[in-house]
Formats: sequence, structure tokens, C-alpha cells
Amino acid sequence: MNIFKPLLDLLFPPSCVFCACRVGEGTTALQICSQCFAQIPAPETCCFKCAQPLAAVQDNCPQCSRLVFAFSGACTVQAYRGAVKTAIHNYKYNGRKEMARTLGGLMAQQIRRSSWPKIEAIVPVPLHRSRLLERGYDQALLLAQVVAAELRLPLKKVLQRKSATPSQTKLFARERWENVSQAFELASQLPLPARLLLVDDLLTTGATAHFAAQTLLAGGAKEVYLAVVGR
Ligand SMILES: [Zn+2]
Ligand SMILES: [Zn+2]
Repeated sequence: MNIFKPLLDLLFPPSCVFCACRVGEGTTALQICSQCFAQIPAPETCCFKCAQPLAAVQDNCPQCSRLVFAFSGACTVQAYRGAVKTAIHNYKYNGRKEMARTLGGLMAQQIRRSSWPKIEAIVPVPLHRSRLLERGYDQALLLAQVVAAELRLPLKKVLQRKSATPSQTKLFARERWENVSQAFELASQLPLPARLLLVDDLLTTGATAHFAAQTLLAGGAKEVYLAVVGR
């Protein structure tokens, strides 16, 4: 432990990654306040397939009842709105890459709470090179590194982007699906572990994760799960 930490905490009190309020003692390890921590939904209160937080356990999911995703299950840290939306935006676009530690730690917690069969390796959803140059860091890779370390699983960068796809945020749902349908390829021809966990920052339409999972299945994986920070 850093011997200067108590002094640093005094000078720069740690603030919650989600609501920016001061983090109380005892919860500083994850840098999230107890109120935000309490609001993290239990995986069983979210759709088991697409991680959409639901009003009631076993409620029918309005988001994926007509879709057949290639991934077998998903979990999220929070619903993508309000303070969480702002936090993820800061993490992705405002250079706050140190947030990966908290966000990845919370993802690992949600993965442990999900009743999934044993995962063999963690796969980050890859960022295209041009966007990596723009941003300076790969937000999904940083999260995947924290998740892999927390769960003591190997990190496998087995997916890569084929070509730069236009930014998803400016497209309508249908276009998003077409936009990413051919986006991924396998980085090598080596056999894949049977059960993989994809890691990404967000799940919105599910198109990116669907085609990433489909590519892994086509490459020989038997099952693919997905963990995100916001849904
Ligand atoms: Zn908070
Ligand atoms: Zn669903």
C-alpha cells in the first residue's frame, strides 16, 4: 500500500466515479459511493440474455424478445442513463482512463454474480486502429484487462476490426446493424477456447456484440457471454 495514500486522500478526497460525491472510508478501494453501489442491479433483475434491467424478475424483456443474439447471456453494471451515462462518456471521450479500475472491478463483480458456466478466457471487443489513434487508449481493452486480472482468466485479443466503421452514435438502429455486420475477423487461426466472455463498455442495440460473438462462434467457440458497464 502507498504510504502517502492517507495524505493524498486528505488533499484530494476520492470522489465516486458515477455521481462525483465524496467516497466514504471503507469503500475507497472501488471508488464508488455506497449509494451508487447499492443501486447496482442484481443480475437476476436484468434480462438474462441482453442484460436489460427489468421492472420485475422474470419480466419479459422488451429489448430482445424479437432478436436472437449470438451471445448466450449478458450482464451490466448499470442502466445506461443519468450519472452512469455521464461517467461512461467521461471514461470514453474525456481521457478518464483511470476509471477502468473501478468500472472493470464492478464488471468482475457482476460476472461473479451471474450464474454462468465457467468462462475460459476474456476477449475485448476491438477498437479500430484509427479510433485508437484518435482517443489514445482502447476503452474496452482496459476494462478487459481489469476483468481478466480480477477473475484470474487469460486475456485473448482474438478479434480484430476489418475496416473503420462510421461512428455508431450517429446512426439509426437499423443502420447500426448493417454497419457492423462485416466489422470483425479473427486475429489468428489458432483454436479458440470453448467458452469466452466478451467485454465492451456499452450495449445499446446489441449489434456490435452480436457480430463479435458470431465471429467467435464461427471460429470454433461453443458459447460466448458478454459483460458491459452500461446497458
Ligand atoms: Zn456515487
Ligand atoms: Zn433482453
